Amino acid sequence: MVSDYYRLDELLTTEKKLRVKIRQFMEKEVAPIITKYWETAEFPYHLIPKLGSPGFTGGTIKGYGCSGVSTTAYAMCISEIARVDASIASFCLVQSCLIMLTIAQLGSEAQKKKYLPSLNKMHKVWVYALSEPDHGSDASTLSTTAGKVPNLIHWFYAVGPWRVRFIVHGGSPGLKISKIENKVSLRVVQNCNIQLENVFVPDDDRLPGANSFQDLVDALSMARIMVAWVSIGIAMGVYDACLRYLQERKQFGAPLAAFQLNQEKLMRMLGNIQSHRLAWITKQARETAALGRELLSGYGIVTDFHVGKAFCDMESVYSYEGSYDVNALIAAGEITGISSIRPSTPS
Ligand SMILES: Cc1cc2nc3c(=O)[nH]c(=O)nc-3n(C[C@H](O)[C@H](O)[C@H](O)COP(=O)(O)OP(=O)(O)OC[C@H]3O[C@@H](n4cnc5c(N)ncnc54)[C@H](O)[C@@H]3O)c2cc1C
Repeated sequence: MVSDYYRLDELLTTEKKLRVKIRQFMEKEVAPIITKYWETAEFPYHLIPKLGSPGFTGGTIKGYGCSGVSTTAYAMCISEIARVDASIASFCLVQSCLIMLTIAQLGSEAQKKKYLPSLNKMHKVWVYALSEPDHGSDASTLSTTAGKVPNLIHWFYAVGPWRVRFIVHGGSPGLKISKIENKVSLRVVQNCNIQLENVFVPDDDRLPGANSFQDLVDALSMARIMVAWVSIGIAMGVYDACLRYLQERKQFGAPLAAFQLNQEKLMRMLGNIQSHRLAWITKQARETAALGRELLSGYGIVTDFHVGKAFCDMESVYSYEGSYDVNALIAAGEITGISSIRPSTPS
């Protein structure tokens, strides 16, 4: 692996086999077709059963049909997927870490038995609706509400605190879904606006463990770690593509890889990738993707050479699951003991 300069791969044991399997799958089945789907903003639905078959969707969950891979193995899988396409990685991440882990941590025993086996095989694909048009970083203060229907104690409808506490099935009356168009990033992912108007939810579809925003944050912590590995995968893919390209393309009679400034950029990209594995992630991955875009110059603004697509996709990863700034401030609050997340405004 050219992007693995310090050969961390050699430290892997059982995880390596899964990583290699995912790389082969991504190179063979996804890399040749994915740019076309990115261009047309469509999802390759025919890949879903294949994505579900290696058995890593359940991530670290053990039981309920899930094999329970290690956190390291899951991180390897997600970065290998993102190395070829960040949209497919985000799709897998939502199914595994947002949906399945939320059910595993906050769902009832009956919900786990009923849903986790088919979600693991991707026989069912669910979405995770937390943020709202007016609430992204401050998702703890959503305006959608829910409450019990009077005289119908087993049903809920939209008044009172809502948050991610319910499973809402496709086709439920009052549920409206419309595709978000014109994205310039992660175009393969089918993001949607979800409207819930007086949707009735049976008691069986309430998540009994979701009683506060903190419960959700706890369930999301693994997803946040894995977003970092999406960035690492994107950076690896960009670096690998750039190194290949710079060795092949010649200008002024020499390969682009022979020019000192290009070499400096390659070194900075590789240094970034090694440091991503320690801590310094989406910000540096964004720089790495931008350097890659610069190195390919005109070919860096078309999608045909992988780098242009990865450059656009990295913009979403920089913002979703908590923006870089908000995550940095949460970490800074931990160091200083002073949170700057909620500034006081003059009354
Ligand atoms: C591709 C994609 C897929 C997504 N998928 C989902 C999904 O499946 N389900 C879902 O629920 N949501 C989803 N989201 C929404 C995502 O969670 C939000 O975009 C994210 O939480 C950031 O919120 P925002 O975009 O509203 O930015 P805002 O909160 O409006 O922030 C705007 C800017 O202000 C900064 N900022 C905000 N608050 C502070 C603060 N306190 N201190 C300093 N700076 C601050 C931010 O860093 C950012 O730069 C998705 C987003 C993207 C891009």
